[in-house]
Amino acid sequence: TQARDRLADLLMRFGLSLERGDTPCSNWIDGELVSGEGESIALIHPATGGALIDYRDADTALVDQAVVAATRAQIEWMALTASERGRRMLTAVSRLEGHEESLAQLESVVAGKPIRDCRGEVGKVREMFEYYAGWCDKQHGEVIPVPTSHLNYVRHVPFGVVGQITPWNAPMFTCAWQLAPALAAGNGVVLKPSELTPFSSVVIARLLESGGLPRGLINIVNGLGPTTGAALTGHEGISKLVFVGSPASGRVIAEAGARRLVPSVLELGGKSANIVFADARLDDAVAGAQAAIFAAAGQSCVAGSRLLIQREIYEEVVERVARAASQITVGLPEDEATRMGPLQNARQFEHVSAMLERARAAGARVVTGGTRPAGLPAGADGYYLAPTLLADVTPEMEIACEEVFGPVLVALPFDDEADAIRLANATRFGLAGAVWTQDPARAHRVAAQLRAGTVWINSYKAINVMSPFGGFRDSGFGRSSGLDGLREYSVPQSVWVETASEASVAMGYGDG
Ligand code: NAD
Repeated sequence: TQARDRLADLLMRFGLSLERGDTPCSNWIDGELVSGEGESIALIHPATGGALIDYRDADTALVDQAVVAATRAQIEWMALTASERGRRMLTAVSRLEGHEESLAQLESVVAGKPIRDCRGEVGKVREMFEYYAGWCDKQHGEVIPVPTSHLNYVRHVPFGVVGQITPWNAPMFTCAWQLAPALAAGNGVVLKPSELTPFSSVVIARLLESGGLPRGLINIVNGLGPTTGAALTGHEGISKLVFVGSPASGRVIAEAGARRLVPSVLELGGKSANIVFADARLDDAVAGAQAAIFAAAGQSCVAGSRLLIQREIYEEVVERVARAASQITVGLPEDEATRMGPLQNARQFEHVSAMLERARAAGARVVTGGTRPAGLPAGADGYYLAPTLLADVTPEMEIACEEVFGPVLVALPFDDEADAIRLANATRFGLAGAVWTQDPARAHRVAAQLRAGTVWINSYKAINVMSPFGGFRDSGFGRSSGLDGLREYSVPQSVWVETASEASVAMGYGDG
Protein backbone atom coordinates (compact mmCIF):
# COMPACT_ATOMS: atom_id res chain seq x y z
CA THR A 1 0.00 0.00 0.00
CA GLN A 2 2.97 2.30 0.55
CA ALA A 3 3.90 2.05 -3.14
CA ARG A 4 0.25 2.45 -4.12
CA ASP A 5 -0.01 5.65 -2.08
CA ARG A 6 3.22 6.99 -3.50
CA LEU A 7 2.01 6.35 -7.04
CA ALA A 8 -1.38 7.92 -6.30
CA ASP A 9 0.35 11.05 -4.96
CA LEU A 10 2.60 11.29 -8.00
CA LEU A 11 -0.31 10.84 -10.39
CA MET A 12 -2.19 13.61 -8.56
CA ARG A 13 0.87 15.84 -8.67
CA PHE A 14 0.93 15.46 -12.45
CA GLY A 15 -2.85 15.91 -12.74
CA LEU A 16 -3.50 12.40 -14.02
CA SER A 17 -6.04 11.78 -11.29
CA LEU A 18 -7.88 14.00 -8.88
CA GLU A 19 -8.15 11.69 -5.90
CA ARG A 20 -6.52 8.57 -4.57
CA GLY A 21 -8.36 5.55 -5.89
CA ASP A 22 -9.50 7.30 -9.08
CA THR A 23 -9.00 5.55 -12.39
CA PRO A 24 -6.15 7.65 -13.76
CA CYS A 25 -6.16 9.38 -17.12
CA SER A 26 -3.82 7.28 -19.18
CA ASN A 27 -3.91 9.04 -22.56
CA TRP A 28 -2.81 12.40 -23.87
CA ILE A 29 -4.85 13.15 -26.97
CA ASP A 30 -5.21 16.48 -28.77
CA GLY A 31 -3.96 18.41 -25.75
CA GLU A 32 -6.25 16.70 -23.24
CA LEU A 33 -5.86 14.04 -20.57
CA VAL A 34 -8.33 11.31 -21.45
CA SER A 35 -9.28 8.02 -19.76
CA GLY A 36 -9.50 4.82 -21.73
CA GLU A 37 -12.80 2.98 -21.97
CA GLY A 38 -11.73 -0.54 -22.87
CA GLU A 39 -10.58 -3.48 -20.74
CA SER A 40 -9.21 -2.78 -17.30
CA ILE A 41 -5.43 -3.20 -17.01
CA ALA A 42 -3.98 -3.89 -13.55
CA LEU A 43 -0.50 -2.62 -12.73
CA ILE A 44 1.48 -4.64 -10.18
CA HIS A 45 4.33 -3.22 -8.12
CA PRO A 46 7.46 -5.07 -9.30
CA ALA A 47 9.27 -4.89 -5.94
CA THR A 48 6.47 -6.18 -3.70
CA GLY A 49 4.08 -7.92 -6.08
CA GLY A 50 1.23 -5.86 -4.60
CA ALA A 51 -1.53 -4.21 -6.63
CA LEU A 52 -0.66 -0.66 -7.75
CA ILE A 53 -3.51 0.76 -9.79
CA ASP A 54 -5.91 -0.11 -12.62
CA TYR A 55 -6.51 1.88 -15.77
CA ARG A 56 -8.42 1.28 -18.98
CA ASP A 57 -7.29 0.29 -22.46
CA ALA A 58 -7.57 2.94 -25.21
CA ASP A 59 -9.89 1.68 -27.92
CA THR A 60 -9.94 2.23 -31.69
CA ALA A 61 -11.99 5.42 -31.38
CA LEU A 62 -9.38 7.05 -29.12
CA VAL A 63 -6.54 5.99 -31.39
CA ASP A 64 -8.47 7.50 -34.28
CA GLN A 65 -8.92 10.79 -32.39
CA ALA A 66 -5.17 10.83 -31.72
CA VAL A 67 -4.30 10.32 -35.39
CA VAL A 68 -6.76 13.02 -36.48
CA ALA A 69 -5.25 15.47 -33.97
CA ALA A 70 -1.69 14.68 -35.05
CA THR A 71 -2.64 15.10 -38.72
CA ARG A 72 -4.00 18.58 -38.05
CA ALA A 73 -1.16 19.64 -35.74
CA GLN A 74 1.53 18.40 -38.14
CA ILE A 75 0.34 20.92 -40.76
CA GLU A 76 0.58 23.66 -38.15
CA TRP A 77 4.04 22.45 -37.16
CA MET A 78 5.31 22.54 -40.74
CA ALA A 79 3.87 26.02 -41.26
CA LEU A 80 6.44 27.32 -38.75
CA THR A 81 9.93 28.16 -39.94
CA ALA A 82 12.55 25.50 -39.35
CA SER A 83 14.37 27.68 -36.81
CA GLU A 84 11.15 28.31 -34.95
CA ARG A 85 10.52 24.55 -34.71
CA GLY A 86 13.99 24.16 -33.18
CA ARG A 87 13.36 26.92 -30.66
CA ARG A 88 10.02 25.41 -29.69
CA MET A 89 11.58 22.00 -29.12
CA LEU A 90 14.07 23.63 -26.74
CA THR A 91 11.35 25.53 -24.89
CA ALA A 92 9.28 22.34 -24.77
CA VAL A 93 11.97 20.30 -23.06
CA SER A 94 12.75 23.13 -20.64
CA ARG A 95 9.26 22.49 -19.20
CA LEU A 96 10.61 19.33 -17.59
CA GLU A 97 12.64 21.51 -15.23
CA GLY A 98 11.50 21.15 -11.65
CA HIS A 99 9.65 17.90 -12.48
CA GLU A 100 12.69 15.67 -12.96
CA GLU A 101 12.66 14.08 -9.51
CA SER A 102 8.90 13.36 -9.57
CA LEU A 103 9.21 11.85 -13.04
CA ALA A 104 12.09 9.67 -11.89
CA GLN A 105 10.04 8.52 -8.88
CA LEU A 106 6.99 7.82 -11.02
CA GLU A 107 9.05 5.59 -13.27
CA SER A 108 10.84 3.93 -10.40
CA VAL A 109 7.55 2.86 -8.76
CA VAL A 110 5.92 1.60 -11.93
CA ALA A 111 8.92 0.12 -13.77
CA GLY A 112 10.68 -1.15 -10.63
CA LYS A 113 13.95 0.46 -11.75
CA PRO A 114 16.47 1.77 -9.23
CA ILE A 115 15.83 5.46 -8.61
CA ARG A 116 19.34 6.46 -9.70
CA ASP A 117 18.81 4.78 -13.09
CA CYS A 118 15.47 6.60 -13.48
CA ARG A 119 17.16 9.95 -12.82
CA GLY A 120 19.63 9.10 -15.56
CA GLU A 121 16.75 8.35 -17.92
CA VAL A 122 15.14 11.76 -17.29
CA GLY A 123 18.49 13.38 -18.12
CA LYS A 124 18.48 11.56 -21.46
CA VAL A 125 15.11 13.09 -22.37
CA ARG A 126 16.66 16.54 -22.19
CA GLU A 127 19.75 15.46 -24.13
CA MET A 128 17.71 14.01 -26.95
CA PHE A 129 15.50 17.05 -27.37
CA GLU A 130 18.45 19.42 -27.26
CA TYR A 131 20.34 17.43 -29.84
CA TYR A 132 17.48 17.06 -32.30
CA ALA A 133 16.24 20.63 -31.80
CA GLY A 134 19.58 21.64 -33.31
CA TRP A 135 18.84 19.63 -36.45
CA CYS A 136 15.55 21.42 -37.23
CA ASP A 137 17.17 24.18 -39.30
CA LYS A 138 20.06 22.09 -40.60
CA GLN A 139 18.23 19.54 -42.73
CA HIS A 140 19.57 20.91 -45.97
CA GLY A 141 18.60 19.14 -49.10
CA GLU A 142 21.14 18.88 -51.87
CA VAL A 143 21.66 19.77 -55.49
CA ILE A 144 22.39 16.80 -57.76
CA PRO A 145 24.87 17.46 -60.63
CA VAL A 146 22.54 16.45 -63.48
CA PRO A 147 23.22 17.84 -67.00
CA THR A 148 22.77 21.62 -67.26
CA SER A 149 19.42 21.35 -69.07
CA HIS A 150 17.93 20.77 -65.62
CA LEU A 151 18.28 21.76 -62.04
CA ASN A 152 17.59 18.84 -59.72
CA TYR A 153 17.39 19.27 -55.98
CA VAL A 154 16.39 17.02 -53.13
CA ARG A 155 14.31 18.01 -50.11
CA HIS A 156 13.71 16.02 -46.94
CA VAL A 157 9.96 15.75 -46.48
CA PRO A 158 8.30 14.45 -43.29
CA PHE A 159 6.07 11.37 -43.46
CA GLY A 160 3.15 13.16 -41.81
CA VAL A 161 2.00 11.19 -38.79
CA VAL A 162 4.20 8.42 -37.43
CA GLY A 163 3.15 5.65 -35.06
CA GLN A 164 5.60 4.66 -32.34
CA ILE A 165 5.45 1.70 -29.96
CA THR A 166 7.82 1.36 -26.99
CA PRO A 167 8.67 -1.28 -24.34
CA TRP A 168 8.65 -1.24 -20.53
CA ASN A 169 12.35 -1.47 -19.81
CA ALA A 170 13.27 2.17 -20.55
CA PRO A 171 9.97 3.99 -21.07
CA MET A 172 11.17 7.61 -20.77
CA PHE A 173 14.35 7.00 -22.74
CA THR A 174 12.61 5.26 -25.63
CA CYS A 175 9.81 7.84 -25.65
CA ALA A 176 12.14 10.83 -26.06
CA TRP A 177 14.51 8.81 -28.26
CA GLN A 178 11.81 8.50 -30.90
CA LEU A 179 9.73 11.64 -30.27
CA ALA A 180 12.64 14.07 -30.69
CA PRO A 181 13.80 13.04 -34.20
CA ALA A 182 10.20 12.58 -35.36
CA LEU A 183 9.34 16.17 -34.42
CA ALA A 184 12.66 17.56 -35.69
CA ALA A 185 11.93 16.02 -39.10
CA GLY A 186 8.50 17.70 -39.09
CA ASN A 187 6.11 14.89 -38.15
CA GLY A 188 3.17 14.55 -35.79
CA VAL A 189 3.25 11.52 -33.49
CA VAL A 190 0.98 8.95 -31.89
CA LEU A 191 2.98 6.89 -29.40
CA LYS A 192 1.89 3.79 -27.53
CA PRO A 193 4.05 2.96 -24.52
CA SER A 194 4.07 -0.50 -23.00
CA GLU A 195 0.84 -1.23 -21.14
CA LEU A 196 3.08 -2.02 -18.13
CA THR A 197 4.59 1.50 -17.93
CA PRO A 198 1.89 3.84 -19.23
CA PHE A 199 2.19 7.09 -17.27
CA SER A 200 5.64 8.64 -17.75
CA SER A 201 5.15 9.15 -21.51
CA VAL A 202 1.80 10.88 -20.85
CA VAL A 203 3.44 13.23 -18.35
CA ILE A 204 6.38 13.95 -20.68
CA ALA A 205 4.10 14.67 -23.66
CA ARG A 206 1.95 16.97 -21.58
CA LEU A 207 4.92 18.92 -20.21
CA LEU A 208 6.50 19.19 -23.67
CA GLU A 209 3.31 20.43 -25.28
CA SER A 210 2.90 23.08 -22.59
CA GLY A 211 6.15 24.58 -23.89
CA GLY A 212 4.60 25.78 -27.13
CA LEU A 213 4.24 22.76 -29.40
CA PRO A 214 1.03 22.77 -31.44
CA ARG A 215 -1.85 21.10 -29.59
CA GLY A 216 -2.13 17.49 -30.74
CA LEU A 217 1.38 17.24 -32.19
CA ILE A 218 2.25 14.52 -29.65
CA ASN A 219 -0.40 12.02 -28.61
CA ILE A 220 0.05 9.15 -26.18
CA VAL A 221 -2.36 6.22 -26.25
CA ASN A 222 -2.11 3.49 -23.66
CA GLY A 223 -3.31 -0.07 -23.86
CA LEU A 224 -2.49 -3.62 -24.86
CA GLY A 225 -0.62 -4.59 -28.01
CA PRO A 226 -3.40 -6.56 -29.72
CA THR A 227 -5.98 -3.80 -29.06
CA THR A 228 -4.53 -0.27 -28.84
CA GLY A 229 -1.29 -1.30 -30.58
CA ALA A 230 -3.08 -3.02 -33.46
CA ALA A 231 -5.44 -0.04 -33.86
CA LEU A 232 -2.37 2.16 -34.27
CA THR A 233 -0.40 -0.05 -36.67
CA GLY A 234 -3.53 -0.60 -38.79
CA HIS A 235 -4.62 3.04 -38.92
CA GLU A 236 -4.65 4.46 -42.43
CA GLY A 237 -3.49 7.88 -41.19
CA ILE A 238 -0.12 6.49 -40.03
CA SER A 239 2.64 6.67 -42.67
CA LYS A 240 5.56 5.16 -40.78
CA LEU A 241 5.93 2.77 -37.85
CA VAL A 242 8.77 2.78 -35.36
CA PHE A 243 8.85 -0.11 -32.94
CA VAL A 244 11.09 -0.80 -29.95
CA GLY A 245 10.46 -4.19 -28.36
CA SER A 246 10.82 -7.94 -28.79
CA PRO A 247 11.49 -9.72 -32.10
CA ALA A 248 8.18 -11.61 -31.78
CA SER A 249 6.10 -8.40 -31.59
CA GLY A 250 8.41 -6.72 -34.13
CA ARG A 251 7.37 -9.32 -36.70
CA VAL A 252 3.69 -8.60 -36.04
CA ILE A 253 4.24 -4.85 -36.41
CA ALA A 254 6.32 -5.16 -39.60
CA GLU A 255 3.63 -7.43 -41.07
CA ALA A 256 0.89 -4.96 -40.17
CA GLY A 257 2.93 -2.23 -41.87
CA ALA A 258 3.62 -4.39 -44.91
CA ARG A 259 -0.08 -5.04 -45.41
CA ARG A 260 -0.58 -1.28 -45.85
CA LEU A 261 2.85 -0.76 -47.51
CA VAL A 262 3.95 1.36 -44.57
CA PRO A 263 7.68 1.17 -43.79
CA SER A 264 8.94 0.38 -40.31
CA VAL A 265 11.99 0.73 -38.13
CA LEU A 266 12.47 -2.16 -35.70
CA GLU A 267 14.70 -1.83 -32.63
CA LEU A 268 14.57 -5.35 -31.17
CA GLY A 269 16.33 -7.59 -28.71
CA GLY A 270 19.85 -8.94 -28.48
CA LYS A 271 22.20 -11.60 -27.17
CA SER A 272 25.31 -9.48 -27.16
CA ALA A 273 28.79 -10.93 -26.64
CA ASN A 274 31.54 -9.61 -24.40
CA ILE A 275 34.76 -11.09 -25.78
CA VAL A 276 37.62 -11.17 -23.29
CA PHE A 277 41.06 -12.02 -24.70
CA ALA A 278 43.87 -13.24 -22.47
CA ASP A 279 45.80 -10.01 -23.11
CA ALA A 280 42.96 -7.81 -21.76
CA ARG A 281 43.29 -5.68 -18.64
CA LEU A 282 41.30 -8.08 -16.51
CA ASP A 283 40.21 -5.60 -13.83
CA ASP A 284 38.47 -3.52 -16.49
CA ALA A 285 37.07 -6.53 -18.34
CA VAL A 286 35.57 -8.01 -15.17
CA ALA A 287 34.04 -4.68 -14.09
CA GLY A 288 32.70 -4.11 -17.62
CA ALA A 289 31.33 -7.64 -18.00
CA GLN A 290 29.28 -7.58 -14.79
CA ALA A 291 27.93 -4.06 -15.37
CA ALA A 292 27.05 -4.99 -18.98
CA ILE A 293 24.55 -7.59 -17.82
CA PHE A 294 23.47 -6.84 -14.26
CA ALA A 295 22.64 -3.13 -14.60
CA ALA A 296 18.86 -2.88 -15.03
CA ALA A 297 18.71 -6.53 -13.90
CA GLY A 298 19.61 -7.54 -17.43
CA GLN A 299 16.48 -5.87 -18.81
CA SER A 300 18.37 -3.91 -21.40
CA CYS A 301 18.40 -4.56 -25.12
CA VAL A 302 22.19 -4.18 -25.27
CA ALA A 303 22.84 -6.31 -22.17
CA GLY A 304 26.12 -8.20 -22.56
CA SER A 305 24.48 -11.55 -21.87
CA ARG A 306 27.21 -13.79 -23.28
CA LEU A 307 30.70 -13.70 -21.83
CA LEU A 308 33.19 -15.26 -24.24
CA ILE A 309 36.49 -15.86 -22.46
CA GLN A 310 39.79 -17.06 -23.91
CA ARG A 311 40.40 -20.53 -22.54
CA GLU A 312 43.60 -19.84 -20.59
CA ILE A 313 41.88 -17.20 -18.43
CA TYR A 314 38.43 -18.82 -18.39
CA GLU A 315 38.42 -20.11 -14.81
CA GLU A 316 39.92 -16.91 -13.42
CA VAL A 317 37.45 -14.60 -15.18
CA VAL A 318 34.45 -16.77 -14.27
CA GLU A 319 35.50 -16.73 -10.64
CA ARG A 320 36.10 -12.95 -10.60
CA VAL A 321 32.84 -12.05 -12.40
CA ALA A 322 30.93 -14.36 -10.04
CA ARG A 323 32.46 -12.61 -7.05
CA ALA A 324 31.62 -9.17 -8.45
CA ALA A 325 28.06 -10.35 -9.20
CA SER A 326 27.52 -11.62 -5.68
CA GLN A 327 28.54 -8.22 -4.29
CA ILE A 328 25.91 -6.20 -6.21
CA THR A 329 23.45 -4.45 -3.89
CA VAL A 330 20.04 -5.80 -4.82
CA GLY A 331 17.21 -3.93 -3.12
CA LEU A 332 14.13 -1.78 -3.29
CA PRO A 333 14.01 0.54 -6.33
CA GLU A 334 13.52 3.63 -4.16
CA ASP A 335 16.65 3.00 -2.03
CA GLU A 336 19.59 5.15 -3.08
CA ALA A 337 22.01 2.29 -2.44
CA THR A 338 20.19 -0.15 -4.74
CA ARG A 339 22.17 -1.07 -7.85
CA MET A 340 19.85 -3.80 -9.09
CA GLY A 341 16.10 -4.03 -8.63
CA PRO A 342 13.51 -6.68 -9.47
CA LEU A 343 12.36 -7.90 -12.85
CA GLN A 344 9.54 -5.71 -14.06
CA ASN A 345 6.62 -8.10 -14.26
CA ALA A 346 5.34 -11.59 -13.55
CA ARG A 347 5.47 -12.73 -17.17
CA GLN A 348 9.11 -11.70 -17.45
CA PHE A 349 9.94 -13.37 -14.14
CA GLU A 350 8.35 -16.61 -15.28
CA HIS A 351 10.11 -16.43 -18.64
CA VAL A 352 13.52 -15.93 -16.99
CA SER A 353 12.91 -18.62 -14.34
CA ALA A 354 11.79 -21.13 -16.97
CA MET A 355 14.85 -20.46 -19.16
CA LEU A 356 17.09 -20.89 -16.14
CA GLU A 357 15.40 -24.17 -15.27
CA ARG A 358 15.84 -25.50 -18.82
CA ALA A 359 19.50 -24.41 -18.82
CA ARG A 360 20.13 -26.36 -15.60
CA ALA A 361 18.37 -29.39 -17.03
CA ALA A 362 20.58 -29.14 -20.12
CA GLY A 363 23.70 -29.27 -17.94
CA ALA A 364 24.58 -25.62 -17.21
CA ARG A 365 26.23 -25.04 -13.83
CA VAL A 366 25.10 -22.16 -11.60
CA VAL A 367 28.29 -20.45 -10.40
CA THR A 368 26.43 -17.74 -8.51
CA GLY A 369 22.79 -16.67 -8.15
CA GLY A 370 19.97 -18.68 -9.64
CA THR A 371 17.67 -18.02 -6.68
CA ARG A 372 16.05 -15.11 -4.87
CA PRO A 373 18.77 -12.82 -3.54
CA ALA A 374 19.57 -13.15 0.15
CA GLY A 375 19.04 -10.26 2.55
CA LEU A 376 16.23 -8.40 0.75
CA PRO A 377 14.34 -5.92 2.94
CA ALA A 378 11.02 -6.98 4.44
CA GLY A 379 8.18 -6.73 1.97
CA ALA A 380 10.37 -7.16 -1.12
CA ASP A 381 8.32 -10.15 -2.24
CA GLY A 382 8.24 -9.14 -5.89
CA TYR A 383 10.03 -10.42 -8.95
CA TYR A 384 13.60 -10.66 -7.64
CA LEU A 385 16.34 -12.87 -9.00
CA ALA A 386 19.96 -12.68 -7.83
CA PRO A 387 22.67 -11.82 -10.37
CA THR A 388 23.28 -15.19 -11.98
CA LEU A 389 26.31 -16.61 -13.77
CA LEU A 390 26.18 -19.93 -15.62
CA ALA A 391 29.21 -21.97 -16.67
CA ASP A 392 29.48 -25.30 -18.51
CA VAL A 393 27.23 -23.85 -21.17
CA THR A 394 27.54 -25.04 -24.77
CA PRO A 395 26.87 -22.74 -27.74
CA GLU A 396 23.89 -24.85 -28.83
CA MET A 397 21.98 -24.49 -25.55
CA GLU A 398 18.90 -22.28 -25.60
CA ILE A 399 20.41 -20.13 -22.83
CA ALA A 400 23.40 -19.35 -25.10
CA CYS A 401 21.30 -18.37 -28.13
CA GLU A 402 18.04 -16.79 -26.94
CA GLU A 403 17.43 -13.47 -25.20
CA VAL A 404 16.75 -13.92 -21.46
CA PHE A 405 16.18 -10.23 -20.66
CA GLY A 406 17.05 -10.86 -17.05
CA PRO A 407 20.15 -10.93 -14.80
CA VAL A 408 21.55 -14.12 -16.29
CA LEU A 409 25.02 -14.28 -17.82
CA VAL A 410 26.45 -17.30 -19.61
CA ALA A 411 30.21 -17.89 -19.81
CA LEU A 412 31.68 -19.74 -22.78
CA PRO A 413 35.36 -20.46 -23.50
CA PHE A 414 37.05 -19.84 -26.87
CA ASP A 415 40.48 -20.80 -28.24
CA ASP A 416 41.55 -18.09 -30.66
CA GLU A 417 40.38 -15.01 -32.53
CA ALA A 418 38.58 -16.93 -35.27
CA ASP A 419 36.79 -19.04 -32.67
CA ALA A 420 35.72 -15.92 -30.75
CA ILE A 421 34.28 -14.28 -33.87
CA ARG A 422 32.48 -17.47 -34.89
CA LEU A 423 30.88 -17.80 -31.43
CA ALA A 424 30.01 -14.10 -31.21
CA ASN A 425 28.18 -14.25 -34.54
CA ALA A 426 26.49 -17.57 -33.79
CA THR A 427 23.07 -16.28 -32.70
CA ARG A 428 20.17 -14.83 -34.70
CA PHE A 429 20.78 -11.46 -33.03
CA GLY A 430 23.16 -8.64 -33.94
CA LEU A 431 22.62 -5.67 -31.66
CA ALA A 432 25.89 -5.06 -29.80
CA GLY A 433 29.13 -6.57 -28.58
CA ALA A 434 32.45 -5.75 -26.99
CA VAL A 435 36.09 -6.73 -27.37
CA TRP A 436 38.49 -6.59 -24.44
CA THR A 437 42.17 -6.67 -25.42
CA GLN A 438 45.28 -4.53 -25.14
CA ASP A 439 46.24 -5.22 -28.75
CA PRO A 440 44.74 -2.36 -30.79
CA ALA A 441 45.13 -4.09 -34.14
CA ARG A 442 43.29 -7.14 -32.83
CA ALA A 443 40.57 -4.93 -31.31
CA HIS A 444 39.74 -3.29 -34.64
CA ARG A 445 40.17 -6.52 -36.60
CA VAL A 446 37.67 -8.34 -34.40
CA ALA A 447 35.26 -5.37 -34.20
CA ALA A 448 35.10 -5.25 -38.00
CA GLN A 449 34.02 -8.88 -38.15
CA LEU A 450 31.22 -8.74 -35.59
CA ARG A 451 27.70 -8.69 -37.02
CA ALA A 452 26.51 -6.14 -34.48
CA GLY A 453 25.12 -2.63 -34.85
CA THR A 454 27.27 -1.33 -31.99
CA VAL A 455 30.71 -2.57 -30.95
CA TRP A 456 32.66 -1.39 -27.92
CA ILE A 457 36.40 -1.78 -27.45
CA ASN A 458 37.53 -2.02 -23.81
CA SER A 459 34.21 -0.49 -22.80
CA TYR A 460 30.52 -1.40 -22.62
CA LYS A 461 27.25 0.48 -22.98
CA ALA A 462 28.70 3.83 -23.99
CA ILE A 463 25.88 5.36 -26.02
CA ASN A 464 25.17 8.85 -27.23
CA VAL A 465 22.28 10.43 -29.07
CA MET A 466 24.76 11.58 -31.74
CA SER A 467 25.78 8.06 -32.74
CA PRO A 468 23.61 5.69 -34.84
CA PHE A 469 22.11 2.74 -33.00
CA GLY A 470 20.34 -0.36 -34.29
CA GLY A 471 20.67 -4.01 -35.16
CA PHE A 472 21.39 -6.67 -37.72
CA ARG A 473 19.16 -9.73 -38.26
CA ASP A 474 16.71 -10.48 -35.39
CA SER A 475 17.84 -7.31 -33.60
CA GLY A 476 15.93 -5.34 -36.20
CA PHE A 477 16.52 -2.87 -38.98
CA GLY A 478 16.69 0.87 -39.45
CA ARG A 479 18.63 3.16 -37.16
CA SER A 480 17.88 5.48 -34.24
CA SER A 481 19.98 8.37 -32.87
CA GLY A 482 22.27 10.63 -34.85
CA LEU A 483 21.63 11.83 -38.37
CA ASP A 484 20.70 8.29 -39.43
CA GLY A 485 17.92 8.31 -36.82
CA LEU A 486 16.65 11.64 -38.11
CA ARG A 487 16.62 10.41 -41.72
CA GLU A 488 14.29 7.55 -40.77
CA TYR A 489 11.61 10.19 -40.19
CA SER A 490 11.67 11.84 -43.62
CA VAL A 491 11.63 10.88 -47.27
CA PRO A 492 13.80 12.45 -49.98
CA GLN A 493 11.79 14.29 -52.59
CA SER A 494 13.55 14.93 -55.90
CA VAL A 495 12.50 18.15 -57.68
CA TRP A 496 13.36 18.79 -61.36
CA VAL A 497 13.42 22.23 -63.00
CA GLU A 498 13.85 22.74 -66.73
CA THR A 499 16.75 25.16 -67.28
CA ALA A 500 17.58 24.68 -71.01
CA SER A 501 17.31 27.90 -73.09
CA GLU A 502 14.78 26.15 -75.36
CA ALA A 503 12.55 24.11 -73.19
CA SER A 504 12.51 20.52 -74.45
CA VAL A 505 8.90 19.58 -74.14
CA ALA A 506 9.63 16.00 -75.11
CA MET A 507 10.48 14.35 -71.86
CA GLY A 508 12.85 11.51 -72.57
CA TYR A 509 14.90 9.44 -70.25
CA GLY A 510 18.15 10.14 -72.14
CA ASP A 511 21.16 11.81 -70.63
CA GLY A 512 19.99 15.25 -71.75
P1 NAD B 1 7.10 -6.48 -26.37
O1 NAD B 1 7.43 -6.79 -27.78
O2 NAD B 1 6.35 -7.47 -25.58
O3 NAD B 1 6.27 -5.12 -26.29
C1 NAD B 1 6.74 -3.92 -26.84
C2 NAD B 1 5.58 -3.06 -27.22
O4 NAD B 1 4.86 -3.66 -28.29
C3 NAD B 1 4.56 -2.83 -26.11
O5 NAD B 1 4.13 -1.48 -26.15
C4 NAD B 1 3.44 -3.77 -26.50
O6 NAD B 1 2.19 -3.39 -26.00
C5 NAD B 1 3.49 -3.65 -28.01
N1 NAD B 1 2.85 -4.73 -28.76
C6 NAD B 1 2.86 -6.06 -28.48
N2 NAD B 1 2.14 -6.73 -29.39
C7 NAD B 1 1.66 -5.82 -30.28
C8 NAD B 1 0.83 -5.88 -31.44
N3 NAD B 1 0.33 -7.04 -31.87
N4 NAD B 1 0.55 -4.75 -32.10
C9 NAD B 1 1.04 -3.57 -31.67
N5 NAD B 1 1.80 -3.43 -30.57
C10 NAD B 1 2.11 -4.55 -29.88
O7 NAD B 1 8.47 -6.11 -25.68
P2 NAD B 1 8.71 -5.78 -24.16
O8 NAD B 1 8.63 -7.08 -23.41
O9 NAD B 1 7.87 -4.64 -23.75
O10 NAD B 1 10.22 -5.26 -24.19
C11 NAD B 1 11.32 -6.11 -24.11
C12 NAD B 1 11.95 -6.28 -25.48
O11 NAD B 1 12.29 -5.02 -26.04
C13 NAD B 1 13.25 -7.04 -25.41
O12 NAD B 1 13.32 -7.96 -26.47
C14 NAD B 1 14.30 -5.94 -25.59
O13 NAD B 1 15.54 -6.39 -26.06
C15 NAD B 1 13.62 -5.04 -26.54
N6 NAD B 1 14.20 -3.67 -26.54
C16 NAD B 1 14.93 -3.26 -27.61
C17 NAD B 1 15.53 -2.01 -27.62
C18 NAD B 1 16.36 -1.55 -28.80
O14 NAD B 1 16.62 -0.37 -28.89
N7 NAD B 1 16.79 -2.44 -29.68
C19 NAD B 1 15.35 -1.16 -26.53
C20 NAD B 1 14.61 -1.60 -25.46
C21 NAD B 1 14.03 -2.86 -25.48
